[in-house]
Amino acid sequence: MQKYDHIQKEDKKIYDLILAEKKRQEDGLELIPSENYTSQAVMEAMGSILTNKYSEGYAGKRYYGGNEFVDQVELLAIERTKKLFGVAHANVQPYSGSPANLAVYLATCNPGDTVMGLNLPDGGHLTHGWKYSATATFYKSVPYHVKEDGRIDMDEVWALAKEHKPKLIWAGATAYPFMYEYDKFAEVADSVGAYLAADIAHVAGLIVAGAHPNPAPYAHIITTTTHKTLRGPRGGIIMVTDKGLAKDVDLSKKIDKAIIPGLQGGPHDHQTAAIAIALKEASTAQFRSYGKQIVKNAKALADSLKRHGLKLVADGTENHLMLIDLVPTLGAGGGILGSEVLEVAGMTVNKNTIPKDPSTALFPSGLRLGTPALTTRGMKEKEMKQVGKWIAEALAETEPYRLPTDMKERSIYLENFKKEIAKNKNLQKIRKEIKTFCKKYPLPR
Ligand SMILES: *Cc1c(COP(=O)(O)O)cnc(C)c1O
Repeated sequence: MQKYDHIQKEDKKIYDLILAEKKRQEDGLELIPSENYTSQAVMEAMGSILTNKYSEGYAGKRYYGGNEFVDQVELLAIERTKKLFGVAHANVQPYSGSPANLAVYLATCNPGDTVMGLNLPDGGHLTHGWKYSATATFYKSVPYHVKEDGRIDMDEVWALAKEHKPKLIWAGATAYPFMYEYDKFAEVADSVGAYLAADIAHVAGLIVAGAHPNPAPYAHIITTTTHKTLRGPRGGIIMVTDKGLAKDVDLSKKIDKAIIPGLQGGPHDHQTAAIAIALKEASTAQFRSYGKQIVKNAKALADSLKRHGLKLVADGTENHLMLIDLVPTLGAGGGILGSEVLEVAGMTVNKNTIPKDPSTALFPSGLRLGTPALTTRGMKEKEMKQVGKWIAEALAETEPYRLPTDMKERSIYLENFKKEIAKNKNLQKIRKEIKTFCKKYPLPR
């Protein structure tokens, strides 16, 4: 395990905070579906001397000298990406998922052009054209939505595409419990001549493991984060598919130019090395079974939650995440109460909107949870049964509480609520049980 000896000598305050966070990560159940525990090898690369280097440009065409080794690191990351996802071109320099997506706009659209993506409260990502994102400031965003049953309304996608003739369509989500039907999106995009960009940030690891369809045959461009199910360092990748090159022979060049000089300066070479390592790890048989286990665990957790009387959006999951609909138990806007009690009980989730949420994005009525991180710790279906039981028991402690509809009353009510649940004996008991349980499932070494 990493020791942090030098940080301890250099900066005691930060050292103490890192250790406290390490303990938090070890002692609790991490259920946020976009989080994971990366390997020691990936973390070593992140802490390596590669962070000292400037390498603006691309391999063989840098603006700085001394890049003979960095070039090889970057080329390895690129080759591994191409092989793993079956794509023609890869750019591994995006600092994270959001800048990767912004670069796609820069490469394919002019300011003011129309773009389509899944609406944020329906499960979409900020960067797919949410009204407060730069992507809606500089482009004309026409969002599509999910139906009552939680599935994307493909009839609406067709109608909007025909009416607005978008330049770019996003297929991807951040809170969507179904597999993405890239083939259906391809039909729409192709019929109106739009670029189809598949954002696989959440499901990249599942795709590599063969547990989710690969968009490579359908999309022109694929973007991903590297730190979610892919289990690498924080980072982003943009890929161009054969289909993308068939539509536009210059697409790879446009993507590369959008990253630098369009959006970024020097790449984070330590991050690139860590991405290369994560991709090597992801190409193993072990990782394939990891990815498949994530999905099995999600199904087991969903079953357990339902058996304990909780309502799930879409009644379950097809991937790594699920959404608990708290309206029947906690009323509209109950997500904040639910996430707080779970936190006290040692489980981290995030509050999230549900389809046709009766409340707002700030006070949503659901919880989003997933299994990638717990699966990394070696938990299987049997453990998911127990986790579901704890979740249901903790949520039952919200019984006496309801979020006031009056906005002014809310903050005082929530303050009181937090004070009371912090002292709740049943939640403390669950927290203790979880801490003991977690000792059997260490973080990756
Ligand atoms: C997480 C996520 C991103 C953005 O990633 P960051 O690294 O947080 O910038 C983009 N798209 C989707 C669908 C995501 O889930």
